[in-house]
Amino acid sequence: MSFSSETLNVVNNNIDPWNVIKSMSVTNPKNAFYCCDLNDVIEKILYWKKLMPRIQPFYAVKCNDDKYILKLLATFGVNFHCCSSSALNKVLSLNVKPNRIIYANTAKPKMFIQHALKNGVDLMTFDSKTELYKIKEIFPNAKLVIRITSKVKALAELGEKFGCHPRKEAPKLLKISRDLGLNVVGVSFHVGYGCQEISAFSKLIKLAKFVFNSARKMGCEMNLLDIGGGFSGNKNLLKECADVINPAIEKYFPEKDIKVISEPGTYFVESAFTLACNVHSIRTTLDENKVKKYYYYVNDSVYGGFGNVMLSKLVRIPRPITDYGNCELCNSTVWGITNDSVDKINTNILLPKLKFEEWLVYDNMGNYSLPFYTAFSGIETPKVYTIINENNWHLIQDLFWFAEEKELQQKMMCIEQPK
Ligand SMILES: *Cc1c(COP(=O)(O)O)cnc(C)c1O
Repeated sequence: MSFSSETLNVVNNNIDPWNVIKSMSVTNPKNAFYCCDLNDVIEKILYWKKLMPRIQPFYAVKCNDDKYILKLLATFGVNFHCCSSSALNKVLSLNVKPNRIIYANTAKPKMFIQHALKNGVDLMTFDSKTELYKIKEIFPNAKLVIRITSKVKALAELGEKFGCHPRKEAPKLLKISRDLGLNVVGVSFHVGYGCQEISAFSKLIKLAKFVFNSARKMGCEMNLLDIGGGFSGNKNLLKECADVINPAIEKYFPEKDIKVISEPGTYFVESAFTLACNVHSIRTTLDENKVKKYYYYVNDSVYGGFGNVMLSKLVRIPRPITDYGNCELCNSTVWGITNDSVDKINTNILLPKLKFEEWLVYDNMGNYSLPFYTAFSGIETPKVYTIINENNWHLIQDLFWFAEEKELQQKMMCIEQPK
């Protein structure tokens, strides 16, 4: 079986990423590569709609801006959360309407605001006085969303970097925006990537209500609540979040004319991507107790797909593609390809004694991996082999965002099967 990284690969319903990796590991010339499973993303979208029908997701593009991912989300009516001009361009270039985008960066260089104005993206967040003055000067008609914060336990805690204090600072900022004649339409928060405290959602929804009330006292009726991202990439954990979020929204925002949106990144993509990297070098050494340790060097890096590991203390455990059966497990460390000593992917984990040029497979690699590749010290951005099963392909192939892809597929079929 062979797969292309240039087009979608329409596969039988029984083919999964493991099959793709097994077959590409034979033909691929030892470069690291990803398999992206669009079926997984479709399941996630439908599951979100089922559990939280009132909450319109705006996918956080910075998490993974793969073109098939963006097209698929657009096809299913998911909107977009952008933090930069380049993310904005990427989404707009797919013919997504500007009113389907929230510019959710509270600290935008002036150039970003000018770019948003030029492209008609008018919904944007703020959390400071200087941001309000910048917006007043450049884009006074923008629809503004005030971002609030609170201390939340997460893999990447953002409470310090972004968001104003809902009681101490938000009322002052609302007053300034009123005096400047700006249009504040709502409140947002983001509990942080890998949120480990689901109750934070209800706490922040309640605080958002406080900010809605302060705005009302100043004569400003807001109509948008944005509950941010921070949802796990493990689909089974969404129910737990929905069970906290839905009742909190019903309690504090029962009015149906208040629009509720969210900004999930990780949730949609983490489990859809699997990475295979190759063990190109092996070294053994002894630990303090004179026990043998195995060092494996692979062709990816914390300056590449594993940036997240370094930034957030996340642990990702690989599986070798070869079945070693019930053999002895050894103390193993997996190093990245660069010469930097921080480039360590796994520390003291148990693996079978791997053979030279073994493939190590990492699951759940879809979030904050592909956009992280740098050109540092020999790193290359791996190819992505994207699969979709026949049923799902039939579902989407005639829809706007995939019509062009369908033509491409048909052309390829003609080339491959001459009469
Ligand atoms: C990155 C980001 C998100 C997405 O976070 P995930 O944890 O990946 O869901 C949501 N909101 C804001 C403001 C962000 O910066």
